[in-house]
Amino acid sequence: MIEAGYKVVNFEEKADVYIINTCTVTNMADKKSRQMLRRVKEINPKSILVACGCYAQVARKELEKIPEIDLILGVNEKKEIAKYIENTIKNKNELAQTSKEIIQNEEKNDKTSKNTVQNTKSSQNEIRNLTQVSEISNQKEFLDFGTITYTENTRAVIKVQDGCNQFCSYCIIPYARGRIRSRKPKSVLEEIQKISKQGIKEVVITGIHVASYGKDFSLNNIKNSHSEQEGYYLIDLLEEIEKIEGIERIRLGSLEPTLITKEFVERLSKLSKICDQFHLSLQSGCNSTLKRMNRKYTVEDFEKGANLLRKAFPKVHLTTDIIVGFPGETEEEFRKTYEFLSKIKFYKMHIFKYSPRKGTVAANMPNQIDGNKKEERSNSLIKLSNSNEENYQKQYIGKQIEVLFEEKVGEYYKGHTTNYMVAKLKTEEKLENIMKKVQVIGTENLELICKEIN
Ligand code: SF4
Repeated sequence: MIEAGYKVVNFEEKADVYIINTCTVTNMADKKSRQMLRRVKEINPKSILVACGCYAQVARKELEKIPEIDLILGVNEKKEIAKYIENTIKNKNELAQTSKEIIQNEEKNDKTSKNTVQNTKSSQNEIRNLTQVSEISNQKEFLDFGTITYTENTRAVIKVQDGCNQFCSYCIIPYARGRIRSRKPKSVLEEIQKISKQGIKEVVITGIHVASYGKDFSLNNIKNSHSEQEGYYLIDLLEEIEKIEGIERIRLGSLEPTLITKEFVERLSKLSKICDQFHLSLQSGCNSTLKRMNRKYTVEDFEKGANLLRKAFPKVHLTTDIIVGFPGETEEEFRKTYEFLSKIKFYKMHIFKYSPRKGTVAANMPNQIDGNKKEERSNSLIKLSNSNEENYQKQYIGKQIEVLFEEKVGEYYKGHTTNYMVAKLKTEEKLENIMKKVQVIGTENLELICKEIN
């Protein structure tokens, strides 16, 4: 859109075009997407409203019922979004012109205004039928936008993979995003080289199922020019990113525990730029729950992976996602999860209360768990997570840490350590995108308070 000459403004500002990138991960996400879509025309009734993203991909029929939407695009169509929008604007202008002419003619012919309204309405429907959603399961190649998403000025999120072949029983993503597709190494490396020249120091490597990176290269017989050995996987890509000058930190997005093998960790630990924080999605600490979730590992496999990482990275922080109240989760199963989590001692856990997603296997499972029970289990794990985080942070009091500072919030400059603790420093100095060693003097609201080193 920027390349096509558009300027991006804040959502609450009056704009000519609104693009809602919908989410469909839970029924609640669908509802929020619909609410958001309905709000837009209150800000500017004359604007063009575009719905794209995963919900638009899997439920275009539902979105077609929302009269405010002008254009519905699937995941594959995003790349040409500017072209589709310009067509819609053109059609809308032509319709306005036609409506004007109808009104003028009918006034001349002295007819009732009833027909006019009907004609205009049917033309509007023709425009709204501009729904471009192609079949996602046939998509074999990564849709390379050649652009990046910045989370902040100092950190760039690089998407290297799309789609998922895992079919966890609670998840709609394989249906919304299709099968695994990896971005070609050349494209990833060129992009990181480009942004490093712009002064970006930290990259976050992400994907829907980033552990699958490269698996489709051999399936699709895509030759790789970067490695002599057979196959090209995530670790090969990371080794090449490590060599890019100017990049000082490489952070990994959410990983599947099955990726953490001895060989992977050995090669990973040789990379000096890899951040010692890994997000391993566990989801449950009980094997029978994991089985119903159709996750492909056991808690024993997970523990082995966690130990390998802890041995290779002494200050490593492990973070995770947990779903509580999955269908059939008994008190005993939850107790096993709680005990396992207490044993692994994650730095931080993101706790999700299970929410059924229409179209998934788990949504039709018996023994759905009561909302109060989910709340209770969620609260007890949030308490455990907060207490772990606090205890980890306290160990740093009096120690020196290196922080990549990001932004000024109030009187503090805030940033992150390699192992993802938030650190803050009171200073007059301008520290944005500066890497600096500071001393920890205390903790406050799960953040480290620091001072300059004399
Ligand atoms: S691994 Fe499971 S939870 Fe993650 S995207 Fe794939 S199906 Fe969904």
